Amino acid sequence: MNSQPWWSSAVVYQLYVRSFADSNGDGKGDLAGIRSRLPYLQTLGVDALWLNPCYPSPQHDHGYDVSNYFEIEPDYGTLAEFDDMVADATDHGIKILMDVVPNHCSWDHPWFRAALAAAPGSPERDRFWFRDGRGPNGDEPPNNWQSIFGGSTWTRITEPDGSPGQWYLHIFANEQPDFNLHNEDVAQHFDDMLRFWFDRGVAGFRADAVAVAGKAPGLPDDESEGEQEIGYASPFFNHRPEGHLTWQRWRRVVDQYNADHPGRDVFVVCESYTPDETTLRSYVNDDEFHQCFAFDLMLAPWRAEPIRQAIETTIGTLHPHGLHAAWTLNNHDAQRAVTRRGRHDAHISTHNNLWNSDAPVDELLGLRRANALALLQFALPGSIYLYCGEELGLPEVLDIPAAARQDPVFKRTQGRQPGRDGCRVPLPWTSDEHSSFGFSANKSESPWMPQPTGWGEYAASLQVGRDGSTFELYRAAIALRRLHGHFESVGFEWIDAGNEVVAFKRGEILVALNVSGQPATLPSAWGHGEILLSSDHSHSDGTQVPADTAVWLHV
Ligand code: BGC
Repeated sequence: MNSQPWWSSAVVYQLYVRSFADSNGDGKGDLAGIRSRLPYLQTLGVDALWLNPCYPSPQHDHGYDVSNYFEIEPDYGTLAEFDDMVADATDHGIKILMDVVPNHCSWDHPWFRAALAAAPGSPERDRFWFRDGRGPNGDEPPNNWQSIFGGSTWTRITEPDGSPGQWYLHIFANEQPDFNLHNEDVAQHFDDMLRFWFDRGVAGFRADAVAVAGKAPGLPDDESEGEQEIGYASPFFNHRPEGHLTWQRWRRVVDQYNADHPGRDVFVVCESYTPDETTLRSYVNDDEFHQCFAFDLMLAPWRAEPIRQAIETTIGTLHPHGLHAAWTLNNHDAQRAVTRRGRHDAHISTHNNLWNSDAPVDELLGLRRANALALLQFALPGSIYLYCGEELGLPEVLDIPAAARQDPVFKRTQGRQPGRDGCRVPLPWTSDEHSSFGFSANKSESPWMPQPTGWGEYAASLQVGRDGSTFELYRAAIALRRLHGHFESVGFEWIDAGNEVVAFKRGEILVALNVSGQPATLPSAWGHGEILLSSDHSHSDGTQVPADTAVWLHV
């Protein structure tokens, strides 16, 4: 009998609600759209969906600026529709995960409005980080911290009497004031929120921006100020010990919920880019998060050693403690892997590549590599988080006109940084460009983000059931993974297959990824294994692996 919780090896589909499927023709995805596509997701074979924030929000950061944590964004539906979607998903064998945004809310949140209307030092302001400015008139920010989205982390307010006032802290955009998570109202609010959605059948949460929740006492200047325009996270607000008190409290809420609801096994996966083993373990343990995304694999350059290292570090850090990895190769903050892996500099890793790189792109090569790495990933121990459209092999849309871009990163850097809109373009369901490629049923409005011409060539309708498509590769890999019980009862063993081939064994399945750029001959000691799956559809010779290809062999 399997004693591991369901999520520890699940395949989870990250669903960017706004871009997935639009049921009412307003150009934005919605819950009814998700419902209509549950059969597709069931065909793909996923165990759960993680919905990007779908709470009421003025959408300055597309839902990561929440104005009410206990409701559904009207553009997306209603609570009743949410309940119906959960029920319908359950009937399709699919669980629902939500996104929880603890570090900040929207400046439209009633608590922030109340804080603006209240006096300095009031309980209302204590829910956030309000401080007096520096300089003779208080017109300089309280410290020199730089926002992850560019610019200062501080915005000055006008006091209710009309005078220039205090400043509030926002690690991201100014529309996203940071919560003071030490404030008991705020802490209680998140306890209540977790339970509220668990009670509606939600199976877990992805916790947003975990790394920046703690702030150094006294909010001192950062003398080591980073040089990056965006993405720089100061040691004064990144991976701080102060943040962990919140996660420990959450774990007690979750553990209690599970104790009170046997069989539910709800859980929380943490979003934090962890630079080393110690930081990873500081989040994933029996007192805090159940999982944390293993972003190292997503960020690893296209060379065997860093790919191996990324896997080894995660497994080596978690497995000895009975903890489980959460693998991912794409998300709504990263340039799509097809584009990143197809760049001429793909063998060089930089965190910057997530949002920007000017190196030319070979999209076909990128697709080969993205599919190959995905196939390798499906054989790893732990759970897998896919990002919507990845199963269609979508590339990043690089040429979105400036006027159409909406990401605060683009706006706050006056367009110097393109931001993340290019991985959030509404999905192509059909090849019909006159009906927004099937994104909007009864299309009346244009999609909220323009789809490029040619988007139809990636359409789901052209890929489902077509041998050799990315969709069918994903479907086959998920099905085979399931057939092997998600590899839960077999070990993980590295195999030496030469410098530029990453290879490991899971029971009777040998997985090899060739990143050398040349066909690789497999060691004869492996025998002539039967090819179970290959990311190159035309691959039929089990003694070698084509360039930029992964294979599962039965040995
Ligand atoms: C989310 C981003 C978001 C930011 C602020 C990140 O970790 O994934 O999409 O913009 O947090 O909430």
